[in-house]
Amino acid sequence: MRALVVERPTPAAEGPLHPVDVPTPRPAPGEILLRVSACAICRTDLQIAEGDVPARRLPIVPGHQVVGLVEAIAPGVEGWHVGDRAGVGWLAGACGQCEFCLAGRENLCPDAVFTGWDRDGGFAERMTARADFALRLPDTFLDVDAAPLLCGGVIGYRALKVAGIRPGGRLGLYGFGASASLAIQVAVHWDCEVYVCTRSEPERRRALDLGATWAGGYEDVPPVPLQAAVTFAPAGEVVVTALRVLERGGTVAINAIHLDRVPEFSYDLLWPERSLRSVANFTRQDAREFLELAAEIPIRTAAEPLPLSDGGDALERLKKGRVEGAFVLLPAGEGSDGAASRP
Ligand SMILES: [Zn+2]
Ligand SMILES: [Zn+2]
Repeated sequence: MRALVVERPTPAAEGPLHPVDVPTPRPAPGEILLRVSACAICRTDLQIAEGDVPARRLPIVPGHQVVGLVEAIAPGVEGWHVGDRAGVGWLAGACGQCEFCLAGRENLCPDAVFTGWDRDGGFAERMTARADFALRLPDTFLDVDAAPLLCGGVIGYRALKVAGIRPGGRLGLYGFGASASLAIQVAVHWDCEVYVCTRSEPERRRALDLGATWAGGYEDVPPVPLQAAVTFAPAGEVVVTALRVLERGGTVAINAIHLDRVPEFSYDLLWPERSLRSVANFTRQDAREFLELAAEIPIRTAAEPLPLSDGGDALERLKKGRVEGAFVLLPAGEGSDGAASRP
C-alpha cells in the first residue's frame, strides 16, 4: 500500500514526507484494519515532520484525523463490523488502570500512545487502530467533512471546557485557523459573545461570518474584558496578550502542543485569580460529546480535499499559513467513493 512517511524530521520546504510502498499492516488482537478514505492534516503533523515536536518513533506515518471503513477485525474486538465507518483521532490508546485513566482523565495517562506519533497514522491507504479507541461518526457528515473534526474540533471543544466558558459568556479566541473556526461554532451555539484576534484580515472576515461579535488584530484590545480565552497560535507572546484582556477570575486555555516560549510577564496580570492552563490531548468522552454536538449544530467545516500524493505540498502551505480551512488527504484515491461515502 501507499503511505507517506517521515524518516528524519526536516523543514517543510525540504520535503520531510516521503511516499513509500509498504506492506498492508495487520491488526493485532483488539485492533481493526481501516481503509482510509480521508485524513485531515493538523499543525501537529507539521510539527512532528519538522521536529518541533520531537519524534517518538521513526520512520512514522503521520496523520491523526482519520476516517475510514473497517476492512478487517482481529480477535478480541467488540462492537465493530467489517464495512462500518470509523474515526481515529490523536489518542490511540491509554492504560486504563492508572490514577488518571480511572479518574476520567485518560488524556493525561503517562502510558498514553498517539496516532501518527507512536503509531502509524492516516497518511496512508490503510492503517490499524485499537478498536476501543476508534470513534463512531455521525451519519450527517461526509468523510471529508468529518475528518477535520477529529483533532481540531475535539481539542478545540476541550479547550472551551478547560477555559470554563459558560453559555452567554464573553470568550476570546486568539488565532483563527481550522480548530478555532470549529470552536467558534460551538461557542456561538452556546450564545457566547466571541471576540477574535488574528493577524490575518481574511481570517477576521471569516470569524465575523461565523458569528463573532468583534474581530481585530493581536494589537487591538477587545471592547470588553473577557471571561475566558483560548489561544491557538503557537506563540507564547499571544498567551500574554490574551491574559492582559482577561476579566478577574478568568482563564486562558492554551490550545497548543508546542509553544515557542512563554515570555516573562508581571504577576499583576495573574494575581486577581486569573488562570493559565494548557490543553493536552483529549478523552474519548470529549470526542463523543463534541461529535454529538457537531451533528446537532450542525458544524460546517471548510475542507480542501487533496490526493495523498499532495501531502508534502499541503504541509508546506500549512507552514506558510496559506490555508482557508483544513487540508484533507484522500488516500483511497480518485475513482473511489472515498470523498463522498456515508455509512
Ligand atoms: Zn492534531
Ligand atoms: Zn492510564
